[in-house]
Amino acid sequence: MVRYVYDFTDGGRELAGLLGGKGANLAEMTRLGLPVPPGFTLTTEACRAFLTTGAEPDGLAHEVSAHLAEMEQAAGRRLGQRDDPLLVSVRSGARFSMPGMMETILDVGLHDDSVAGLAEVSGSERFAWDSYRRLVQMFGSTVMGVDASLFEEALERLKQLRGAPDNVHLDAADLSGLVETYKKLIRRETGEEFPQSPAHQLQRAVLAVFASWNSERARLYRRREHIPDDLGTAVNVQRMVFGNLGSDSGSGVAFTRDPATGRRGLYGDYLPDAQGEDVVAGIRNTVPLAELEHLDPHSYGQLREHMRTLEQHYRDLCDIEFTIERGKLWMLQTRVGKRTAEAAFTIAAALADEGLISADEALARVSGEGLARLMFPRFDASATGDPLARGLPASPGAAVGTAVFDSAEAVRRHASGEAVVLVRQETDPDDLPGMVAARAVLTSRGGKTSHAAVVARGMGKVCVCGAEDLVVDTEGRRLTTGDGTVVEEGTVLSVDGSAGTVYAGAVPLVDSAVMRRLETGTAENATEASDAVVSGITRALNRADAVRRLEVRANADTPEDAARARRFGAQGIGLCRTEHMFLGERRQLVERMILAETDTDRDCALDALLPLQRQDFTGILKAMDGLPVTIRLLDPPLHEFLPDRLDLATGVAATEARGEVPDAHDVALLDAVNRMHEENPMLGLRGVRLGLVVPGLVAMQVRALAEAVVERVRAGGDPRAEIMVPLVGDVAEFRLVRAEVHRVLAEVSAASGAPVSCPVGTMIELPRAALTAGRIAEVAEFFSFGTNDLTQTTWGFSRDDVEAAFFSAYLDKGIFTDSPFETIDHEGVGRLVEIAVAEGRAARPALETGVCGEHGGDPESVHFFHRAGLDYVSCSPFRVPVARLEAGRAVL
Ligand code: PEP
Ligand code: MG
Repeated sequence: MVRYVYDFTDGGRELAGLLGGKGANLAEMTRLGLPVPPGFTLTTEACRAFLTTGAEPDGLAHEVSAHLAEMEQAAGRRLGQRDDPLLVSVRSGARFSMPGMMETILDVGLHDDSVAGLAEVSGSERFAWDSYRRLVQMFGSTVMGVDASLFEEALERLKQLRGAPDNVHLDAADLSGLVETYKKLIRRETGEEFPQSPAHQLQRAVLAVFASWNSERARLYRRREHIPDDLGTAVNVQRMVFGNLGSDSGSGVAFTRDPATGRRGLYGDYLPDAQGEDVVAGIRNTVPLAELEHLDPHSYGQLREHMRTLEQHYRDLCDIEFTIERGKLWMLQTRVGKRTAEAAFTIAAALADEGLISADEALARVSGEGLARLMFPRFDASATGDPLARGLPASPGAAVGTAVFDSAEAVRRHASGEAVVLVRQETDPDDLPGMVAARAVLTSRGGKTSHAAVVARGMGKVCVCGAEDLVVDTEGRRLTTGDGTVVEEGTVLSVDGSAGTVYAGAVPLVDSAVMRRLETGTAENATEASDAVVSGITRALNRADAVRRLEVRANADTPEDAARARRFGAQGIGLCRTEHMFLGERRQLVERMILAETDTDRDCALDALLPLQRQDFTGILKAMDGLPVTIRLLDPPLHEFLPDRLDLATGVAATEARGEVPDAHDVALLDAVNRMHEENPMLGLRGVRLGLVVPGLVAMQVRALAEAVVERVRAGGDPRAEIMVPLVGDVAEFRLVRAEVHRVLAEVSAASGAPVSCPVGTMIELPRAALTAGRIAEVAEFFSFGTNDLTQTTWGFSRDDVEAAFFSAYLDKGIFTDSPFETIDHEGVGRLVEIAVAEGRAARPALETGVCGEHGGDPESVHFFHRAGLDYVSCSPFRVPVARLEAGRAVL
């Protein structure tokens, strides 16, 4: 028989899939002997069964009763017992943390009779009625489906009536009146009574938590975080402990290290006389955890001890939630804590130094995505001026956008392409769509563990929270700063999540200091990018370099980019797009080549291009001396070098309409553009096809390269050029171009007296090339997968159009979880890569294989290419450190 319920004393961290993260960690803390209030966990399997059938699974109720009975026996009182009620919390807890996305119901077991008992034993009527008020409110909205704002409004009305600035100023009579109001509200909205039976409350609360797995916001969060939809959540039922029983009680959140910087030392927020939810909601401002040392030294000492135990046991940064009930410390939750990218590198290196983890584990704990984030630009410190406001630096980075004051507006403006900053007093899970849409989040309340901070950090969004001087007027859609400046919706703000500052207007961005230091290896700006982070990054990269099998090259078309890529650790150039050398002033020469009516005209244009192209190649070969440089022959449709067809036609027509004679050159150009016009240029005359139909083009490019090689050899260099043919679909195309390449190489060798030999290979960008890879490899010395085109041609998605046209709908419908242009589609495009590698190597065992599409710098794709057995990935210079890191992580 399936077992659906586990006591906290039964489980452990290894059961996280079944018990969810929270349940498994509660069991682990119980096993470690830490003070955890007793309880039990209903498994994710029970949730899945419920979600599939819509009914409570058989046997679940029975198991719950049995575990509850044990809990009651140990406590010596029953759930909801009149004179001394046992109360429980009912909380969600999925395998992967989804902060605030699902439901929680506290104080289950209270009813009209037991509220008096609670008042009696706690010695506080106010506390008892406040607890009951919380239950009716949470149960009413979460379980019974009453609009939560109706409860909020009733509470606000009462506070106004009493002139109470805060809930704390409402007395027991007020709160008992409020309970009546809430109950009436529930009756009016649902036609049902608030249930008085504790068992009934518990059962309904559990099912509501299960159902909340599929709430809109939970689905949205999962999609964003790539959490599978079919995992389900566990539910934890735990004896309530109370942090709101007076000044010797309270609740807090703590981290074993600073999750923003990674610095050592206990760190967190504490709120006296409050329940845990109050801390996270940011409703009242918390005090730093260090204050607890003065408020309750005994509990503080114990807390430090427990946190040391946890960090040693988990061998990682842990975060915890705790409550102190009348001087007694209770641990309510722990998990391996989320952290910023900066902190991840610092902590991994520190834990390795402390001997808690190995160098490989340290590498596994950082990520290319985090590194990429640290390499993003920052605000130019010399251009910031005085900040408009200061708050807590909750999630680092710099973002500029227009201020908006609610989630819906953020979503609306984002959809029309505007960058926005979401400004709220505090956020709650309903703000999630707005947070997803915003570049940055700014709140006036709440600590670094508030909802806004935790969620923004998880998303890698910039966030400043607790900017207390700001008065945020959501209704009026404006904010007022400490000095009275009013900022209306639509005003541009610059938010610095690393410093916790907010500026009016758009502050210019500069390169990140981490990036500069990685590139230059200097200590410049050491304060901005702390030494600890840079040293953590360097150590992770060194380890990755030591273990990785994949080489990392760069896509670079200029000597400057090549040199920069090399400083970032590139081991060569995997793709030099020669078309980028034909832009600017050289466009006219290309135009002459295209418009040439005779061979002589064309040769003339090509002759003019030759020295320029040679100079480009010489510079790049010099910058990459001793390392491979893969030069791709011209690829794009030629009309990309000509003026826009419509502009030309309009210009000529306008001249004619004025009765004037249009310029002969314009007419010739228009004629050529019309002749070359293609409905689907990406599937037209481009790639190898150009080389086959435009006489002299391949020869000019190869000659320029060969002469550059000779020049470099004569200068004492070590040039390692490779020639790559784009968009090949059939081996016959490749053979013809290769013959031409060899002819020119031989000519240059003969003329210069220096033998020039370059490997000649092909890009694999068409399904037909992948499927006939064995034949192509008989003549091609290397393959480079152009996964941009290969994705385009495999899916039949125009790479220039589809992302804006319908990808968001495809992502919403779950057809894919990432754009296949960003992360390689394993099943389709990836399969073609695997086939081509296998068949290519079968034909030519020494075949070199690499990838040079955008996927070469995408962390997940790098892992795929490692598994597919490629020799290298090639990506933009800035992504080189990211690819190095991920290529190392792929081995672990
Ligand atoms: C590719 O198609 O993946 C590629 C690298 O070539 P381009 O992006 O220049 O078409
Ligand atoms: Mg391509």
